[in-house]
Amino acid sequence: MRAPRAATPEVTPSKTKLPKVKSSKATPSRKGSKLATNRAKPQSLADAQPVFPFTAILGQEEMKRALLLNAVNPNIRGILVLGHRGTAKSTSIRALADVLPPIEFVDECPYRCPPEKPAGLCDTCVHAKPRAKLPTLVGRVPVVDLPLGATEDRLCGTLDIERALSQGQKAFEPGLLAKANRGFLYIDEVNLLEDHLVDVLLDSAAGGINIVEREGISIAHPAKFTLIGSGNPEEGELRPQLLDRFGLMAEIRTIADIDTRIDIVKRRLAFERDPAGFRADYEPAQKELRARLVSARDRLDRVEVPDAALRFIAKLCVTLDVDGHRGEITLLNAALANAAFEGRSQVTLDDIRAVATLSLRHRLRKDPLDRTDGGEKIRWALEKLEEEANSTTLVRGDTR
Ligand SMILES: [Zn+2]
Repeated sequence: MRAPRAATPEVTPSKTKLPKVKSSKATPSRKGSKLATNRAKPQSLADAQPVFPFTAILGQEEMKRALLLNAVNPNIRGILVLGHRGTAKSTSIRALADVLPPIEFVDECPYRCPPEKPAGLCDTCVHAKPRAKLPTLVGRVPVVDLPLGATEDRLCGTLDIERALSQGQKAFEPGLLAKANRGFLYIDEVNLLEDHLVDVLLDSAAGGINIVEREGISIAHPAKFTLIGSGNPEEGELRPQLLDRFGLMAEIRTIADIDTRIDIVKRRLAFERDPAGFRADYEPAQKELRARLVSARDRLDRVEVPDAALRFIAKLCVTLDVDGHRGEITLLNAALANAAFEGRSQVTLDDIRAVATLSLRHRLRKDPLDRTDGGEKIRWALEKLEEEANSTTLVRGDTR
């Protein structure tokens, strides 16, 4: 079992928002007292380590696209990555966090509340006055690992009842859910995680709040994160309820192509020998991807969904006999993210096609006699419906 890894991101003081403290003799204000000396440091070696660039990761296109779409549209609600070990899952998630624009957060807030937003703040930040003057820091989007042996206390945080009665919030020791707020929570081998932990996780991931209740005392804090689970289906069944709660499901395989394998190893070696130089080589591509993500996020709310697209999505789910509406909603959110990422102003057939398998393959009913691969069934249904759609107003992907 791996040791739990601290997940606080690399942090640098914000240049723009920090109030200026002229000298160390300046009478410190109550809120700003630690500003002059509080140069936040990376809190663990792991975080100080250079990250492999996202744009240098070869292959695993499905997983990479699923990660990017989640970064554009958090309403997709996470990814389950199924496949072999040693296929760059953890590397890819850290690489994604590294390519996302850094976040600004309230200094010393364990939940990294965004200073500019009135909603979704913790109790302390909500009541801080004036909020605009809170000292802030800027840092990388957090990536938190949930180790398999973690207890519920470690995940949710612990509440000291005696102190809670006398000191309120101070009696709460935040857990991993707090650390993951505004970032990613990664669980390797999620299929081996105990059921009650899975339930807690999925509830927080869906509601964006972690509530800890002990003996009539209740503490709530923001816990909005993208849940990323990975597992090898050969090593343990995944409950259908669990499958359904992850927005997308990506499959990864060990790459068989010899040339690609050689390139993967070469890049890894080059990175290990000279991380800074390797990262510098990829900086132009990283910059471009970062800019693309930023503009996709900005565009997302303005992407239109033609009725024909909604109809197509509904028909697809009916054709595939998908239970409930979660599949449709996820497919729509993923198609919106894909359109935004591709720079389009409306959802097209290409967007739906690009995300249909990711959104639906884990929601298909299992027929023990039917050996057809889920992806194949979805492709078949898409083809059938596309023929009909050709005569409708649903346009293809060239709409910008
Ligand atoms: Zn806060």
